[in-house]
Amino acid sequence: MTTVTRSVDAVITADPSASCDTDLAASPWVFDLTPGYGPGASENDVIPDPVVRPGQLPVDYQRMPDEELHARIRAAKETLGDRLVILGHFYQRDEVVQYADFVGDSFQLANAALTRPEAETIVFCGVHFMAETADILARPEQHVILPNLAAGCSMADMADEESVEAAWEELMELYADEEGDLASVIPVTYMNSSAALKAFCGRHGGIVCTSSNAATVLEWAFERGRRVLFFPDQHLGRNTGKAMGVPLEQMPMINPRKPGLGVEPQELMDARVLLWPGFCSVHKRFTVAQIDQARAQYPGVKVIVHPESPMPVVDAADAAGSTDAIRKFVAASAPGDVIAIGTEINLVNRLAAEHPDRTIFCLDPVICPCSTMYRIHPGYLAWTLDGLVEGEVRNEIVVADDVATDAKVALERMLAALPKD
Ligand code: SF4
Repeated sequence: MTTVTRSVDAVITADPSASCDTDLAASPWVFDLTPGYGPGASENDVIPDPVVRPGQLPVDYQRMPDEELHARIRAAKETLGDRLVILGHFYQRDEVVQYADFVGDSFQLANAALTRPEAETIVFCGVHFMAETADILARPEQHVILPNLAAGCSMADMADEESVEAAWEELMELYADEEGDLASVIPVTYMNSSAALKAFCGRHGGIVCTSSNAATVLEWAFERGRRVLFFPDQHLGRNTGKAMGVPLEQMPMINPRKPGLGVEPQELMDARVLLWPGFCSVHKRFTVAQIDQARAQYPGVKVIVHPESPMPVVDAADAAGSTDAIRKFVAASAPGDVIAIGTEINLVNRLAAEHPDRTIFCLDPVICPCSTMYRIHPGYLAWTLDGLVEGEVRNEIVVADDVATDAKVALERMLAALPKD
């Protein structure tokens, strides 16, 4: 039986060489002022421009012993009571997630916050786009806090508004002569994108999707358009399109930096899904070789991966699904089952701890947490909560009204899109 009980944080601190980047063992504030994604960023990540905004943490909090940080968090929660709601993403480290009132994926959490309208402040222990979504859906008087402003999402930042606008204009020019009721192209953005891109979709007849409803959303889009421009995650777009029967040759990946988007005009004309070249630095690490290794070591192992993984990995797995689907897959398994999971390590470890009668492990033998979410160290949580007790809202995420209005249109289209029977 394989049960992981120590938190990722403890494992990395004890043995930094066990992680995908030895820098992860250092404190996040060491890296917050450095351009790029710092600890844990995979070697080949595209470094977006502009980079995530730097975090800030007063020196006394940087030097505070762990026990004092945790005592402050507990005391602040007690003082603030129902005026505060803390959201913890599935991928968040245990040291922080233990304080969450709700634990879930980004959209579940934004919706969970709606069930607490009495809360004056929502503290989102996730990454930047998640806090933006919470702010879009929250009541106007509610504050949304991201404890460390450097906690971005490398995938979300691979599609910036300017590049998407430029690619869109190029496509509109190419498709200008098309006639008929269907739009030439419908923009679809993954939840893991900036509010600005959700707003772009809202303005251009497009929609948002999550990893749970991507197929339903693509069906919605194909009822309205000949093609879909899917950003930022190429893998979710390709895996979803393939599962729906779209041939690979009709899913070209565009390169927004190249003339003609780096794709032959005829290919762009024939395309059904135009893929943006983004990816998740955690999920792109999973390989078919890891699956082969798991099957060799544990005959009968069940393999489930997240659809942000590359297509050959999804094809080689027994199942693919969102974080919530992975949790349900594990819950539906039987005692004694062996399950290899291709998703972020904090979630895998938590599932292993929740099901000690199964053997549950991460496909990637190297510990590689979501390095940007990992930046929400308890020091940042203590500092922002202490601020609230003192009447100061620190690290607030505010989405401009016009952006929020358009983004909400795209989010509401997603909520209204129902799966086909
Ligand atoms: S796991 Fe990947 S997609 Fe999710 S927040 Fe981290 S970098 Fe972004």
